[in-house]
Formats: sequence, structure tokens, C-alpha cells
Amino acid sequence: MPDSRVSERTPLRILCQGERGSCAACCGLSNFADRSRAATHARLRRRTDAVRAAWPDTAELAAARDALLREETPQVLFAGVKVCPFAGWVEEPADDDDDDDGRVGCLLHPSRHPDGADLRDLAVYPRAVCAGHFCAPHDWLRPHEVDLAQTAHGLVYGRVVTDAGLVKAVARGLVERGNGPFDDVKVARAGDALAALWRALLDEWPYADPDPRRFGGFVCSGDNAVDRSLPSCVAGLDVDAARWERTVLDAIATRPLTATEADAALARLRGALDAVLAAAGRPG
Ligand code: SF4
Ligand code: SF4
Repeated sequence: MPDSRVSERTPLRILCQGERGSCAACCGLSNFADRSRAATHARLRRRTDAVRAAWPDTAELAAARDALLREETPQVLFAGVKVCPFAGWVEEPADDDDDDDGRVGCLLHPSRHPDGADLRDLAVYPRAVCAGHFCAPHDWLRPHEVDLAQTAHGLVYGRVVTDAGLVKAVARGLVERGNGPFDDVKVARAGDALAALWRALLDEWPYADPDPRRFGGFVCSGDNAVDRSLPSCVAGLDVDAARWERTVLDAIATRPLTATEADAALARLRGALDAVLAAAGRPG
């Protein structure tokens, strides 16, 4: 019987490794109570060093895996959601306080092995799943939305490409506030401004919910991280917000706001999109 985690066909555009950033969400990268940049970097550093020291001896890699799992398991948020210790830095950031130039990915990928061997059966999934799983945004995002999402850098990239609702709402906001299409020429012109937008929304948002069980517009609970949608962060408030604005605010895990905070959050969001539109309007 086919494994439902393995996609039936390979997508035309694979989201996992973008030009400027990469993702390892389905390898459990986000399944930790502490997802701060510092904690994530420290975790990735430990894994990368441990795998490098053992590479490519399978017995030593298995021992490194077991040691990493022992160390990380107490920090895992949802026990029933697999975390693979072989997701690490496939390209290390020059500066550990930043990750715009870093790239996370599979340290066991056969492209890294001297003989092309596939050692992913050492990990937490069968290697057929590692090689053949492509998450739902591969089907849900249209080509222009993929272009938009792939402007994100570093680790923020993974949070953008795995949230099709956020990408679609930002795409809609750029069209509405720009009074016209936001085409590939504009995406190219505004690449740096878009990267700054994603970072402002997902890494520097001052109204983010501090509850670690909050993922985008959902809160998860139980060992298997069963998700439940939440009332909007502006529910019950008399605020003048477009549908895309409400969607973005909730997708970036905004906590419940007061009326004053909602006005400030909306002004911040609109200002961030206007900075992108200004950059896109400038001929390169
Ligand atoms: S969550 Fe999706 S984009 Fe991210 S690594 Fe997995 S399949 Fe690729
Ligand atoms: S071995 Fe599989 S689960 Fe582990 S990091 Fe690689 S692709 Fe992800």
C-alpha cells in the first residue's frame, strides 16, 4: 500500500530549498518550545558539528543521532510529532546572530555523500518519505505566489513557504494597496524590501503571541499537536480592516489586541507593505 506521506508526483517547483532561504519544517524544525533564533541556531550548530564529526560512518552517525535525541527530547513541544536531528546547517551563516545567508536542510542528503549513498534510513522517517514528501503549499501556491514567497531569506523562508494563506493574503494586499497587479518585474525590483517585510512580520512582530503552542492562526495541543483555529486577534473590535489584513495579522500569530493596539498593528502592517510598493515602483 502506498505511503500517504509520499507525494504522487514531483512538483514543478520544489519549495524546500529556495534561492535565498530553505525549510525543514516537516523534519520537525519548529517542534520546540523555544523557537527563538538563538535557541534554533544553537540546536542547528550542535547537530551540524555532531554529524560532521561522525560523517560518513553509519555506526557513528547512529550514535550521534541517539545522543542528539537524548539531548533534544526534553525540549520538544509535541511528543507525537517527529523531530529529526539530521536537519542542520547545509550552508552555515557567516554570523551566528543572523541567518539571512544560512541554509537549513538534510545533512544526510545523498548529494552530500562522497559516493552518493542515501543514509536517510538512519533518521526518523523511512527514506522514501524523506525523498518523496512535498507539503500542501506545493499544490496551493500559484507561480506568482511562489515568486513572492521565495523572496524570504534564511530561516524565515520556511515559515513563509509553509503558510499558503499568509502568502496569498500578502499578495492580495500588494494588489489592493498598489491599485494594480504586483507582477514578476515588481517582485524582482522589490526583492530586498520583500525580504525585509517577511522578516518584520515573522521575526520581529511586536504583537506576536508568546504561547509556544501558537503556530500561525492555530493553537496546537496534545502530544500529536492537534490544531484548532482561534478567534481573530481583532474579534469584537470595531476596526476598519480588510479581509487580507485580518488574515495576515492572524497568520503571523498576533495575540488578541486592544482597539489601540489593533490600530497600531494595522498601521505597521500597511507601512510595511507600502515600503515594498515604493521599492517596486522604482525602476531598477
Ligand atoms: S515543509 Fe514543505 S517546503 Fe518545508 S521542507 Fe517540508 S516539504 Fe519542503
Ligand atoms: S533524514 Fe529525512 S527527516 Fe531527517 S533531516 Fe533528512 S529529510 Fe528530514
